[in-house]
Amino acid sequence: MSFLTEFLRQKAPKSGKDMPAYYKKALSITAVLLIAYFLASTLLFAIIFRRFEYVPLIAAALSGCMLWKIDRIGPRVCGLAESILVGFWCLWFVHRFGWGAGVQQLLVTSLILCFFNVSEKPALKITFCLSVIVVRVAIYIYSTRHAELFPLSGQARLIFQLFNSVSVFTLLGCQCMLFSTSVQDAERQLRIDNQELHKEAGTDPLTQLPNRRAMLDYIHTYLKKNPEQAFGVAIADIDFFKHVNDTYGHNCGDYTLRTLSDKFREFCGDRIRVCRWGGEEFCLFMPEMNLDDAGAAMNDLCYAVRKMPLHFEETDFSITITIGVAENDFRSPLESILEEADRKLYMGKASGRDRVVI
Ligand code: GH3
Ligand code: MG
Ligand code: MG
Repeated sequence: MSFLTEFLRQKAPKSGKDMPAYYKKALSITAVLLIAYFLASTLLFAIIFRRFEYVPLIAAALSGCMLWKIDRIGPRVCGLAESILVGFWCLWFVHRFGWGAGVQQLLVTSLILCFFNVSEKPALKITFCLSVIVVRVAIYIYSTRHAELFPLSGQARLIFQLFNSVSVFTLLGCQCMLFSTSVQDAERQLRIDNQELHKEAGTDPLTQLPNRRAMLDYIHTYLKKNPEQAFGVAIADIDFFKHVNDTYGHNCGDYTLRTLSDKFREFCGDRIRVCRWGGEEFCLFMPEMNLDDAGAAMNDLCYAVRKMPLHFEETDFSITITIGVAENDFRSPLESILEEADRKLYMGKASGRDRVVI
């Protein structure tokens, strides 16, 4: 039921300018196929009855006009006009050659166009749908009350039935293929856009490291999958970073953050996950490491940062970091473990910086 409501509620393009590419394509292809169909009908009439019918030529010309002026008249009018043209064509055909030729099947193609356009209001879609049914029934009743002008022989009826069926299925096939591929394309694009947006929302623009939100998401997902697993976390903070900014400028500060992030990335590889926690602080998540393992890894990192050469606009300098480390105690929530690491970081700051506190 909800699928039906959703299907009925599809947004419709409002004007020619807003016409989505897929709908313009559907209308154009319908118009082109109708032109081919009307021209082929003219030919069939000439071959079978040896008479020239001008009505299909007029119908082909009208379809041509719609194709030509599709942007001008807009999708709604164009879709409706194509449907009305098909309705009149069916009536004319049945009036002349009878119901048996199967021309009325063409009305189904109008339904497809209507459901993807005409109006986004379900009531109007249903009204249009009912109108098509009424037109079909009316033409049928007409055919039972009035004998056709040119009764078809058995063979001619078969040819027209085949011709109409092939035409209708070709039209329907093209329309459905267009709409389904456009819906699938739109969905695929939406998925890609969503993934990119999600990635962007979780990435720090300066360092391209994950940000705090992405890191917390990652750890929570990890813990859900591995609830019994040991892990260590660390908060690292640059020592006297304000001094770097004040002495060499804000750009140099940014350069330092970027270079340090590259160092973190290189050091962590696949076994440790690092993020920019905020400002000049970084958080490291170390799966399958107890406090000793994590402490040893962070000591190596501290050493690597101390030895890291920095060079900005003719100035050589270096930095140090202080790190607080905590481990999973299998009792406390993640937030408390992170607070523990933060507390140790400030102990490290208070006791002289450039060190790891475990
Ligand atoms: P401590 O050793 O106690 O950590 O001293 P600190 O100077 O590193 O700490 P403080 O909190 O006093 O200063 C942090 C500085 O980091 C202040 C802020 O301007 C700077 N900072 C934070 N984010 C950025 C950034 O994205 N770019 C730059 N250039 N500076 C930043
Ligand atoms: Mg600092
Ligand atoms: Mg800080």
